Amino acid sequence: MMDASSTKTNIVENIKNVLEFYQALGFERLPLSVRSYKLQVTSKEKNSSLVTRHSSLEKEAALNALREDIGECKRCKLSKGRTHIVFGEGRPDAKLMFIGEAPGREEDIQAKPFVGDAGMLLTRLIEKMGFKREDVYITNVVKCRPPMNRDPEKDEIQSCIGFLERQIEIIHPEIIMSLGRISTRALIGNEELKLSAIRGKFFKYKGVPLMPTFHPAYLLRNPKDKWLTWNDAQKVIEKLNESEKSRGGDTKWET
Ligand code: SF4
Repeated sequence: MMDASSTKTNIVENIKNVLEFYQALGFERLPLSVRSYKLQVTSKEKNSSLVTRHSSLEKEAALNALREDIGECKRCKLSKGRTHIVFGEGRPDAKLMFIGEAPGREEDIQAKPFVGDAGMLLTRLIEKMGFKREDVYITNVVKCRPPMNRDPEKDEIQSCIGFLERQIEIIHPEIIMSLGRISTRALIGNEELKLSAIRGKFFKYKGVPLMPTFHPAYLLRNPKDKWLTWNDAQKVIEKLNESEKSRGGDTKWET
């Protein structure tokens, strides 16, 4: 028979387990009123949002672990001129991922992808597509700035692409938009592809639909081609709507 002290220890242990369980599911505090919680959220919705939250937390942890693996990377010569490694940012469980070629001057200073003029243009595109910038995930093929903003070289891409591959594996987006020639070639694995010939058509990257389109920096120099990028974005929105419909959801991104 248990004495009072071991009963108390068991209760404390049980409460600790429950708190750890809620913490693992992403709760920052416990729902105090079970009744009002049930009124607000049906059990099916509650379960699905918990699963999503849980998986988002796992993905966030995996991305953090990957960032730690990269450390103060010196695997290629781009390490010499960089100020910061620009890992990427956005939702760990984003449906849509944008991949550019390399950080530029502003990105190198701020350690964030697409924050200069080209970044502002990309943000406008994302918002026009019906998302907030923080709903998607944005990164580059190489994580350090090439000197004088030159194109990243083959050996630099080879040294760095493993990090991008792991990011895509963790996030597992529904669609990738590759921005510009360098990222499109790196992801499709064909050095000869001409972006102007293949943009606007879906490819596959390890089973994930990939839409190549122009890099926002190119669009700043050639604004007449913005409408082509918008056409590509509309195809992406249609595909996202189709897969949402096939899951029985009702989210609708406007085209
Ligand atoms: S570009 Fe990539 S591989 Fe090269 S130093 Fe930076 S993080 Fe490392």
